[in-house]
Amino acid sequence: MLYRQLGKTKEKVSILGFGAMRLPTIKNNADVDEEETFRMLDYGITHGINLIDTAYPYHGKKLGDRGKSEAVIGRFLDENSYRDDVLISTKSPSWLIEKESEFEYYLNQQLKSLKTDYADIYLLHSLTEREWKKVHELNVLDFLDDCLESGRVKHVGFSAHTEIDYVIEIIDEYPKWEVVLTQMNYLDEYYQSGVMGLDYLKGQNIGSMVMEPLRGGRLVENIPESVQNLWNQAEVKRTPLQWAFQYLFNRDDVDCVLSGMSSLEQVKENVEIASAIDKISDYDQELIREVAREYRSFIGNECTRCGYCMPCPHGVDIINCFAEYNIAHMMNNPKASAMQYFSLIGDESRADSCIRCMECENICPQMLNIPEELEKVSEYFGDEFDHF
Ligand code: SF4
Ligand code: SF4
Repeated sequence: MLYRQLGKTKEKVSILGFGAMRLPTIKNNADVDEEETFRMLDYGITHGINLIDTAYPYHGKKLGDRGKSEAVIGRFLDENSYRDDVLISTKSPSWLIEKESEFEYYLNQQLKSLKTDYADIYLLHSLTEREWKKVHELNVLDFLDDCLESGRVKHVGFSAHTEIDYVIEIIDEYPKWEVVLTQMNYLDEYYQSGVMGLDYLKGQNIGSMVMEPLRGGRLVENIPESVQNLWNQAEVKRTPLQWAFQYLFNRDDVDCVLSGMSSLEQVKENVEIASAIDKISDYDQELIREVAREYRSFIGNECTRCGYCMPCPHGVDIINCFAEYNIAHMMNNPKASAMQYFSLIGDESRADSCIRCMECENICPQMLNIPEELEKVSEYFGDEFDHF
């Protein structure tokens, strides 16, 4: 297992982190299968994984509910006396917090569930521009100062679901950030903060953890024939799983790759790849770019995220509406994108908020008729997540 220094923290982290958001389940997904989860965690830790990442809502019934993941992780670490062998990363549910005192309330609940006195890494979960503004006004930075001083948290950070400008703005606001979690895989180099965000983190010596290495599994399931044909041209033969991980493990701006594993078999496969990292050649790098281009050919529209149409005077988040719509087509997974669409984009900024004022007419360099495209997005996702 390869270990990397996590930014300016003095922690050495395994390049593969155990993401606890897709644990195996029983009873029609109502409960976590603890026996299997314990076997997976035990295998992972004894084979070198030293970071477990969880969050308040993971394995909750609905988006945003309190989940079961933290409690399962807490029981496992407690029963097996593994607490000192791993770093626990968990997250404050920013979107649920409406009063300053609630930061404290959630942290206390989370530490209790995790059966520990401290979290090694505590991230503000899923910061968008909107959530950051809210938690900042609720004095979240005073709360984080207090967490660090009291020792209940060793390192603070945030998980970002936003563009590079906001990631930089948030980082520049507080010198104590030590870890940032962003999305990265070979399709997402320019999604949200993407590669520019990783580069900025490296420059600031802030630890980088990345999520969605397999894009929710889509880079390894139902591989389109045209993509497989490209992989077949590689100099070194790898499975789609190996391609996805080796791409990330070969990046020197990534300290830890979080993988949400669902079976012992997956843990074994992922550990094996993380224990035998091979260098990606220039030829293979080009092949990866070719595969990314092929996936992108399945998109819904040609938005390049240039931002010329923004801001919409009526608050429509045109860029992200199109981004989720395109990813849904590219990955052939409407439900996963719908979850992002409804959780990351506020009611007032979704596609159905377009009033066809036509102020964005003739602005788009890709010649997109933006209101018409937004209507397609609105029809595609519907007006509530339950539509799926
Ligand atoms: S047409 Fe729609 S997207 Fe364009 S500026 Fe008006 S409200 Fe915004
Ligand atoms: S102007 Fe066109 S390409 Fe640029 S962000 Fe807006 S819709 Fe996308």
